[in-house]
Amino acid sequence: MGWSMFSGKTVWLFDLDDTLYAPQTGFAKAMSLVQHQALANQLNVTVTEVKPILTGLVEQYGGAPFTGLHKTKVIDMDRFIEEGFDLNYSSLKPDLDVLAYLKVLPGRKVVFTNSPQCHAQKVLKVLGLNSVFDEADIFDVVRLNFESKPKKSAFEFVLAELAVAPENCVMIEDSLSNLKVAKDYGMTTVSVYAEGQKPPYVDIAHTDLKSFLSNVSACV
Ligand SMILES: [Mg+2]
Repeated sequence: MGWSMFSGKTVWLFDLDDTLYAPQTGFAKAMSLVQHQALANQLNVTVTEVKPILTGLVEQYGGAPFTGLHKTKVIDMDRFIEEGFDLNYSSLKPDLDVLAYLKVLPGRKVVFTNSPQCHAQKVLKVLGLNSVFDEADIFDVVRLNFESKPKKSAFEFVLAELAVAPENCVMIEDSLSNLKVAKDYGMTTVSVYAEGQKPPYVDIAHTDLKSFLSNVSACV
């Protein structure tokens, strides 16, 4: 398949963490450590006990841990969002090329993230991308009432709010399990930072976001 698959697409759905910034920044890893500590404090367990608890929640409730944490009401969610996203955002830096490519990409540019909006806004601001994504086009886990990717309920919420056919959407993600569901709906799928892995449900695999955007912006 060539780059023509992207022509005429009207909505570009971007994941946030490890997609709009690179995993190599170490930011998402550092974030996960802060969140595990915040959860350990609230659940009154050790940090090493947090991971199996989260795995169990994902197995039972699907999506990301946020979904199970919300359903089971085992933590104070406001406190977790405050403490778990108390991060050093200044470690993320803007990439002016990415900004320029995104600006010329025709169509609606949307953030679809399993993180809360307060985090998405801070990330977009430090990356210099807040002018690209309208606040109304940030679909975060709180706005989705704690439904999260890869649950179908999360995709259906976003598609209904955007009032767009999935065939007109492109989804750009580091998580292959999220891209699999996107393809089930008929979206065009782009993996970034997934170490070049290209399972059948991924249309284009790129080692990084910038190289994808530089190619696609020249073709649409
Ligand atoms: Mg991600």
